[in-house]
Amino acid sequence: MPDHDLKTRLAAAIDANWDRQVAWLKQLVSFPSLRGQEGPCQDWIARGFAERGWSVDRYTLDQVSMDHLPGHSPVMDTDYTRAVQVVATVRPPTTKGRSLILQGHVDVVPAGPAEMWTRPPFEPVVRDGYLYGRGANDMKQGVSAMVFAMDALRTAGLAPAADVYVETVTEEECTGNGALSTLARGYRAEACLIPEPTANVLARASVGVMWFRLRVRGIPVHVAHAQTGSNAIMSAYVLINAIYELTARINERARTHEWYKDVPDPVKFNPGVIRGGDWGSSTPAWCEVDCRIGLLPGTTLEEARDEVLRTVAEAARGDHFLANNPPEVIWNGFQADAHVLHPGSEAEAVLGQVHEDILGTKMTARLGTAVNDTRFYDLYYNVKALCYGPGGQGSHGFDERADLAMLKQTTLIIAGFIADWCGTVEIATM
Ligand SMILES: [Zn+2]
Repeated sequence: MPDHDLKTRLAAAIDANWDRQVAWLKQLVSFPSLRGQEGPCQDWIARGFAERGWSVDRYTLDQVSMDHLPGHSPVMDTDYTRAVQVVATVRPPTTKGRSLILQGHVDVVPAGPAEMWTRPPFEPVVRDGYLYGRGANDMKQGVSAMVFAMDALRTAGLAPAADVYVETVTEEECTGNGALSTLARGYRAEACLIPEPTANVLARASVGVMWFRLRVRGIPVHVAHAQTGSNAIMSAYVLINAIYELTARINERARTHEWYKDVPDPVKFNPGVIRGGDWGSSTPAWCEVDCRIGLLPGTTLEEARDEVLRTVAEAARGDHFLANNPPEVIWNGFQADAHVLHPGSEAEAVLGQVHEDILGTKMTARLGTAVNDTRFYDLYYNVKALCYGPGGQGSHGFDERADLAMLKQTTLIIAGFIADWCGTVEIATM
């Protein structure tokens, strides 16, 4: 943002709207927008967008045909009639610049045991410069940054000089199908910004992610004769250990990876949910484990799936019971490609310049060991997508919190990015 005057105007506008932004974020965090329960949160957002005069498209995922599209992830036991998505279109008075998608997810992961939180996870509170609550960091504060960056332009008497789409999606934490649905519905722009909590660092790359369910059988007998039965929970451990060993081998190979060679153990395996058995004194007849494993750029999903299947089959062959009762592997959730944002894009240059003008330092980039929604835009629709946003702590853990000073500064950077990417038109101040 070389224009010093513009920077001052936007900073003043963000200041003027700041209390409103924090109150808005607090309300956003108070919605327990867990998977399948995002409706009230999305409806509240949609109403606020409409009040701003933006044209709002509110729809649910069951209304969008996307199973055939690259990047789609399969789901089981999920009711997509409840998966509400919101896309607001903000049209310019006159078009001079480049169009932009601002996208953020409002789905949050479960809070875990309430007693591990200092305060209840959906009763947000501001303390010592942090706003606490599930989703405060990942990524409701980023959503507030993109919305209030748009508000700052208007308060400053400016409108973006190109179409801006402000999108709040769901399913980011499990499939990415929310982001994909916006593209399936036809929304496109010349760049996309997703303000995930990166602490003002650009996400250069993200790993791919696959979710799968291991389904294991056992033979139920009275534990008094356990030797005549077979314990499905213990059989599941055999498979879990085999997949940990596979992960170690993949990470060994990663030491020469073009992008990830300097990231220690970039591929993570996580048995995340386990259920099984029916009775303390019966050998369990069943066990299911929901798992997540990463994959690096250069490995296809098909190759990664084959490796998991081979590992499970091999481990089963070596086990007395499993050899005759092969476990099932069910692909349920994320089937997400790894993604590299190749350096040199115009969008990255513009963001880097604004970052530097406001923070006085060069924008750095990092290699992520998680997944984000940028892959859809860049990989399948040729829209450069930047993952860059505010910062905080405790994502997916307890006492999750957003750093409010960094949020304010990031809101200014995003406002500057919108102004420089889209150009601006003077309008009457509100
Ligand atoms: Zn996130």
